[in-house]
Amino acid sequence: MTNPGTPSLLGILFDGKSSYLRGAADAPPKIRAALQCDASNHWTELGVNLGLPDAYEDAGDLACNDQDAFGAIESRVRQLIEAGKRPVVLGGDHSITYPIVKAFAQRYREITIFHFDAHPDLYDEFEGDRLSHACPFARIMESGLARRLVQVGIRTINQHQREQAARFGVEVVGMSSLPAYAKLQANGPVYISFDVDVLDPAFAPGVSHREPGGMSVRAAIAHLHAIEGPIVGADLVEYNPVQDVAGLTATVAAKILKEILGKMIFRP
Ligand code: MN
Ligand code: MN
Repeated sequence: MTNPGTPSLLGILFDGKSSYLRGAADAPPKIRAALQCDASNHWTELGVNLGLPDAYEDAGDLACNDQDAFGAIESRVRQLIEAGKRPVVLGGDHSITYPIVKAFAQRYREITIFHFDAHPDLYDEFEGDRLSHACPFARIMESGLARRLVQVGIRTINQHQREQAARFGVEVVGMSSLPAYAKLQANGPVYISFDVDVLDPAFAPGVSHREPGGMSVRAAIAHLHAIEGPIVGADLVEYNPVQDVAGLTATVAAKILKEILGKMIFRP
């Protein structure tokens, strides 16, 4: 088997496409700090030791201005992919998933996206902006950048987004239909997009759009562990420190990141 590539963390300091609250641009350093915090150790629940020096790399943070953010994000992610890495991107608001997946689509044909979110993010446009954080999966699907899009934990779908999902063949798994482990099987390369607001705000209050009735941290980890298929990259977005309570959500985001990294590295 060929080396699947070292996971490489990349922070994107960008929240310019947030429709309601800014703040997510400050998330990456706080998630990193929580990941390194001495309150826990480096072992994931799958038995992977992230403390080994070559377990994963850190590519640092990309500062973005609001004007040319998407071009800069796409080219930085492409650099990492071309260097044989598996980018794990820390947002930032969810708009960044569009330029990220653009970069992945140049390397990987027929990608499957497993998208965890309270929201489908399928708006054709939101408040006049087609690149809003409410729109990335509309852009991805209409550009043919992914073969499959499976959305897990959705609990805010409206008529417009239902029509968009039908138009693009999106597999929407609503919160009330979980668990949905069998939906998380892919034949080709897998990309994970994890919006922290898929979690119930009781577990993760530090998000811009708190939507009650969401996943527990345990349920989210169980679904991540259930994924079958080679994971080539991931993002973890929408943590908003401004909304956080005592750094709780940073700890939760770091736990999710840890289990995604462990899942990427784990070999049975
Ligand atoms: Mn989202
Ligand atoms: Mn969301």
